[in-house]
Amino acid sequence: MLEKIKQLELISRKHLEPTSQQRDEMTKKILSYSENFLDNIYELPAYVMDEKKGIDIYKTPISENGISLDATLDVLKTNVDTPGLNPASGGHLGYIPGGGIYYSALGDFLADVTNRYAGIFFGSPGAVRLENLLIDWMAEVVGYPKSTAGNLTSGGSIANLIGIVTARDAMNVKSKDVEKSVIYLSEQVHHSVDKAIRIAGLNECVWRYVPLDEQYRMKSDELEKQILEDKKNGLNPFLVIASAGTTNTGTVDPLKIIGDIAGKYKLWYHIDAAYGGFFILCDEGKKVLHGMEMSDSLSIDPHKGLFLPYGLGTILVKDRTKIFESHHYLPPYLQDTLKANDELSPADLSPELTKHFRGLRLWLPLKFVGVAPFRAAIEEKLLLARYFWETIQTFDGFEVGPYPDLSVVMYRYVPKRGDANEFNKRLVHEVQKDGRVFISSTMIDGKFVLRVAILCFRTHLQTIDFALKILKEKAKEIEKEFEIKK
Ligand SMILES: *Cc1c(COP(=O)(O)O)cnc(C)c1O
Repeated sequence: MLEKIKQLELISRKHLEPTSQQRDEMTKKILSYSENFLDNIYELPAYVMDEKKGIDIYKTPISENGISLDATLDVLKTNVDTPGLNPASGGHLGYIPGGGIYYSALGDFLADVTNRYAGIFFGSPGAVRLENLLIDWMAEVVGYPKSTAGNLTSGGSIANLIGIVTARDAMNVKSKDVEKSVIYLSEQVHHSVDKAIRIAGLNECVWRYVPLDEQYRMKSDELEKQILEDKKNGLNPFLVIASAGTTNTGTVDPLKIIGDIAGKYKLWYHIDAAYGGFFILCDEGKKVLHGMEMSDSLSIDPHKGLFLPYGLGTILVKDRTKIFESHHYLPPYLQDTLKANDELSPADLSPELTKHFRGLRLWLPLKFVGVAPFRAAIEEKLLLARYFWETIQTFDGFEVGPYPDLSVVMYRYVPKRGDANEFNKRLVHEVQKDGRVFISSTMIDGKFVLRVAILCFRTHLQTIDFALKILKEKAKEIEKEFEIKK
């Protein structure tokens, strides 16, 4: 047996623990790959429509023995880093972009090398304090008090889930109460909210979609009317969910008034600020987001508004006991950890136990460049959206949606002849096929509408002017075709 153990050790040492020279060689190659990507990032397309769609990844299946790093990086480049959307590109103006600041990659690198266990205070008190410090900072940014606790999640979806589960328990909604308990929300909430409600076992609650005004904001008087009526009918109104920036239209609900109503009728108030929350860093955004601090729980995504690479959302809960009561658990095999509980541990505030040490990817950039550049960049995005809105409506044939609350703009082309929906479907396709910038579309009240979402830190005035130029050109080309057809 001892011989066998030694043999196995040899294999493990040889392949799983590269020598410093091997590390050096590999790191150089990886760096050269990423440097090549970044050096060309302003020229790379935002979208690549490619026939193969990465199918050749299957040509090199996982096997017993490895292949060279060069060959591996080739597979990666061709199949993964080329086809489809390039979220790192400033030309990404679809969905909700963010970009992915480089400093976070360095933070992730360090987190992976040291592999600190950031789930439980006992295991890595410093890592947990670092994450709690970030939670405290974000709480302060949004105007939450010192009593706040929260969690760094994988994204906004899990943040919303934690918020809604906390709301359910804090409001004491047991399974027998579900059918008569009422949730108030807008048809424009992000679908992760719908998912979270279902996963939280609240699907059979009464869902009240509060009517929206012409800016797609929740009508607060209708909300209050509905709560009163539901109470009169013996129902249990317990949760209202507002959006600080909807994904679809970029709309901010009347946060302060909804906060007053939630307070008056003692409802839990959850705000989904995954997209829009960090606009509070600039003065213009602060005005729009007035009242955000009145919520009981709030989701806010650094991988959107702080331009981090994918993989970091946040849930904040004002009353720390509530998020703890919903999520903590102590199994016998973790009894030693009780020796150190100076601070709340992430594992007690989330469904996760072991997790990536996500804090480092936010802490490192904030320490290294400070908050000021983030404030500037987010204000730049807000103003770029206003500029886009003002400019595109001066182009022949284009009409715009409401003045943007934050950085999503809705617009479409109304052709002289033919079906507008068909025209815009074609327009978005042509822009995507071209690929120099990427825009996406949506349906609003039966209309096929185009949108730009400006939130990649690499998107600047030049990018927006370029996008405007492409839209104008493509629209002209399609208009010609439509005329010939008639
Ligand atoms: C992006 C988004 C989410 C979901 O966040 P993920 O990080 O994609 O899980 C939730 N709400 C809003 C408003 C969003 O824009």
